[in-house]
Amino acid sequence: SEGLLLERVSLRYGDGEETTVALEEVSLRVEPGEIIAVVGPSGAGKSSLLAVAGGLTVPDSGRVLVGGVDLAGRERDRARVRRERIGYVFQSNNLIPSLTAVDQVRLPLTFGRVTDPRDPRELLAAVGVEHKEDRRPHQLSGGERQRVGIARALVTRPDVLLVDEPTAALDRQRSHEVLELLARETRERRMATVVVTHDHDVLRHCDRVFEMVDGRLTAGEPVTA
Ligand code: ADP
Ligand code: ADP
Repeated sequence: SEGLLLERVSLRYGDGEETTVALEEVSLRVEPGEIIAVVGPSGAGKSSLLAVAGGLTVPDSGRVLVGGVDLAGRERDRARVRRERIGYVFQSNNLIPSLTAVDQVRLPLTFGRVTDPRDPRELLAAVGVEHKEDRRPHQLSGGERQRVGIARALVTRPDVLLVDEPTAALDRQRSHEVLELLARETRERRMATVVVTHDHDVLRHCDRVFEMVDGRLTAGEPVTA
């Protein structure tokens, strides 16, 4: 694994006179085992940054490397990188109402061959949702649902973990626990983790914090305190 690398990535939406610059020459390196935070006002480009880093959106210029693999290739190759090397955690965890916890975690393994998956039951235990493998989302608390969403993102052993507002639906104590889990998994599994957040309590769990303003990323500051 070689982490996540963005080199002078630019992205604009629209064409002709109606264009919006979402990312302006953004460069970012996240090392394996490192968890970084990206903060910034609404409209600054944070979602666009995650979309580009996750191979969901192709930038107009610049390079994106995930675990050493360039995302500039064909859509077919990009889809494979998305499936095998990238984990996504969303604020509303996107669980499927009809599936049990263990089936939610298995789901990414049903989309194609994964070389060395983690065991879904062991993974649920590792994220602290043991003994609830057979529960559906409505039978779990908000914190437990977020943990199932994290387990689902980890099951393929991704090189890069992209996390969008993971604490938006959680109280302070649950937020703290979820961030501790993300930071621990990042270090133990040598992932490069990017957390987009508005929550200042999240920052102290991260190694560096970057601010986005008008599509530009400031130099990353080490997190102190
Ligand atoms: P953030 O996540 O920080 O709120 P976004 O990445 O969503 O920022 O948006 C960056 C800029 O791009 C904003 O000005 C936004 O209005 C614009 N934008 C985002 N998505 C689209 C789209 N699909 N079409 C046109 N403009 C968009
Ligand atoms: P939290 O303290 O994380 O907010 P809750 O108070 O929502 O948790 O739930 C406490 C416990 O009750 C959790 O372990 C959860 O699994 C369980 N639980 C919550 N809702 C249901 C339900 N509808 N059916 C069965 N168990 C539930």
